[in-house]
Amino acid sequence: MSRFENQVVVVTGAGRGIGEAIARRFAGEGAKIAVVSRTESNSQRTADAINAAQPGAAMPYAVDVADFDAVQAVGERVLADFGRADVLVNNAGITRDGLAMRMSSDDWDAVLDTNLKGAFNFVRAMLRPMVRQRGGRIINISSVSGLMGLAGQANYAASKAGLIGMTKSLAREVASRGITVNVVAPGFIETDMTAGLSEDIRKGAQAQIPLARFGAGDDIAAAVAFLASAEAAYITGQVLAVDGGMSM
Ligand code: NDP
Repeated sequence: MSRFENQVVVVTGAGRGIGEAIARRFAGEGAKIAVVSRTESNSQRTADAINAAQPGAAMPYAVDVADFDAVQAVGERVLADFGRADVLVNNAGITRDGLAMRMSSDDWDAVLDTNLKGAFNFVRAMLRPMVRQRGGRIINISSVSGLMGLAGQANYAASKAGLIGMTKSLAREVASRGITVNVVAPGFIETDMTAGLSEDIRKGAQAQIPLARFGAGDDIAAAVAFLASAEAAYITGQVLAVDGGMSM
């Protein structure tokens, strides 16, 4: 029996990168997937790829996670389409890097609104059915930047550290309902987000990683699937760093 048979998993930012790897991982282990992305063609592409292997397993949804009302509407559609929600993975995220001295107000707001408020918006949309079911898993994707801080990422690090505080508060609020809430904090992972890094920055980053290489989306997906599984039922409010040892 697959670990996530008959479970419904909502993954934001699943149109590409780490989110796509997470969606595919859960689908491969028997789950039905709500594939959420900002761009319709991207969520459709991931859903098509999943459905090609597991017919009918995935449905695509396009929404800006920062838009509270639009996210509530998507939450209602997910529940209408699948009838339940067992796992929520808040993975959608952006960077707008720059030194704080020159960072624009827009770059601050865009990153906080997407990375932190976006996760809150999906929690608001999906928590009630989990409470009613008296069970569920929420996994928020933070970053090594939220643990250590990285120069040029005041906005991004604040959003990712904020996710950790939100996770711990929420974990305390919903533990009595059988819902666990945890964080996975990736280090440098090969995706579009890191594809634009200069060779110098890549070398500098690798020098700080004990395992001396970038990770893959599948490394993150494996950790997320573990925290969503029955084996992790006694783990809540925790931060699991999957970063090649960078933040230890
Ligand atoms: P990508 O840039 O490759 O993909 C980001 C995904 O998030 C896309 O699917 C994108 O949608 C979606 N997204 C972005 N903004 C919004 C929005 N406003 N509303 C809905 N969806 C949105 O990023 P990664 O896969 O690399 O990163 C995934 C998560 O992991 C992020 O939270 C990131 O901060 C975190 N992370 C990544 C690391 C890395 O090294 N790559 C390191 C540490 C953390 P669309 O495709 O439609 O544009």
